[in-house]
Amino acid sequence: MKSKQLKLKHLIMGVALAAFFLTSIGSLWGGYRMNVESIKENTLETNRVYAQKLASTAEGYLNEAFQILGYSADKIRSKMNDENALNQETDRLKMQNSMFNSVVITNADGLVLSISPPSIEIKGDTLTSVSAKEALTKKTPLISKPYKGITGRLIIFISYPIFSQSNEYFGMVAGTIYLNEQNAFNTLLGEHYSHDGSYVYVVDSDGRVIYHQDPSRVNDVVIENKVVQALVAGKSGAQQVVNTKGVEMLAGYSTISSVNWGVVAQRPLDVALAPSFDRVEDIAIKSIPLMLISIFIVLWAAARIADPLQQLASLTEESLESKNVKGLESVRSWYFEAHYLKSALIRSLTFLQGQVSYFKDQSTTDPLTGLTNRRTMDAMLAEWLENQLPHAIILLDLDHFKSVNDTYGHAVGDKVLQFLAHNMKAVTRDGDVCCRYGGEEFVILLPMTTAENAAQTAEQLREILAHTISPCGRPITLSAGVAVYPQMADTTEKLIEAADEALYYAKQNGRNQVKVAETGEQVKK
Ligand code: GH3
Ligand code: MG
Ligand code: MG
Repeated sequence: MKSKQLKLKHLIMGVALAAFFLTSIGSLWGGYRMNVESIKENTLETNRVYAQKLASTAEGYLNEAFQILGYSADKIRSKMNDENALNQETDRLKMQNSMFNSVVITNADGLVLSISPPSIEIKGDTLTSVSAKEALTKKTPLISKPYKGITGRLIIFISYPIFSQSNEYFGMVAGTIYLNEQNAFNTLLGEHYSHDGSYVYVVDSDGRVIYHQDPSRVNDVVIENKVVQALVAGKSGAQQVVNTKGVEMLAGYSTISSVNWGVVAQRPLDVALAPSFDRVEDIAIKSIPLMLISIFIVLWAAARIADPLQQLASLTEESLESKNVKGLESVRSWYFEAHYLKSALIRSLTFLQGQVSYFKDQSTTDPLTGLTNRRTMDAMLAEWLENQLPHAIILLDLDHFKSVNDTYGHAVGDKVLQFLAHNMKAVTRDGDVCCRYGGEEFVILLPMTTAENAAQTAEQLREILAHTISPCGRPITLSAGVAVYPQMADTTEKLIEAADEALYYAKQNGRNQVKVAETGEQVKK
């Protein structure tokens, strides 16, 4: 049966597959989410610790710068007028370690007494920068904010005062760090540079970048960044943040407390999560064989579940047409509901077919004798007449049947009628129709039969009855009249009338005999 409706098999398959995929995707997604969270936490913690470590390294660096400059200030306070000694000292400081990009010694008014490298031709000039003036005024060790020097460079100025033994202020010894150029400070922070998009930067107390792995970013003010705001407020920690370029970052940050600077170490979120994607992909790929097996099982089970129902449906329709339930009986109903449905269908179909044939028989046969009833006989004759089918009829009546009833009782009389019916069937051919016409009157319809042949059949029946013991304990006889269509009548009514007349003559003539009707109401033996 073709139908646009969804088939149970496909429904089960669909539901099972949907459940299967949702569960698989759900657990993969859940695993991925958990993984993402733990990676985020780990990365934030790693960066926090790394920023802290860099902050303490920078702190150490600045302390060391003060120590070196302090040591130098002690050493040269007695040689402030010895130009050679001062030049030697600035060169030594500049060359000894690459801590500073330049080193300068000034007197108390800021006049440059010595500079290294000498290529910076400011010897004899007076320093005018804000930070130099501040140092000369405060007369304490100082680290400046970044500023643009006379040479146009971005500079941090680290200075240490020079006092005489009698505590007279002589001037200062100072080193500069060029933020855009190579020096120990940059090298220190850039040591663990990685190529995966992770990077480190340092901001001053105004949120200005003083170190960045991308030198072009130095001197940018990034105070709008949440992490930088936290640093400026003196906090250390870790958080997810969007950088100025709109990239999600996992940032750790720590203050360099002596100068109110801050270090940020961060890694792009997508870079950190990439291994997690790979892992989910890996799990998905590894579970493909298991998935295929599961899908196969689901499809197989769906087909097995739906099969009996599908068969029952199509075979029920079939058995309604073929009127037998053999097909249904062969369905393998392997689970309870299908089995229950199958036996219910078989029972109801069997019952239905029984009912149908019972009512069919009821409407066409006589219940006592099982012969065709009068209504059906009339219908057949009408049809034969319409088709102008030549036929003969035998009308027969038991002789003195009333006395059989009277002598042996009505029940025995019924038995005799059944006995007669049995013998009528015995003498007639397959195509002949034996009918009960009335109480103890019967008709035999013989298609394509001549009067002679019909009379012969009637005679045969009469003979048998006359010589056979009937249920009443003795033979009973019959009389019969024969007529044929179309030779003797052109309607059924006239045909029966003719046969009845012949029967009447048989009775009149002494019973136990067969008469053939003749046209012109002549009757002959
Ligand atoms: P005849 O030789 O003239 O035919 O005499 P008869 O006694 O047979 O007379 P008739 O044909 O008039 O009798 C019909 C009788 O058949 C009357 C009735 O009691 C009996 N009869 C009709 N139908 C049945 C039946 O179904 N069962 C029984 N047992 N008797 C029936
Ligand atoms: Mg009668
Ligand atoms: Mg009779």
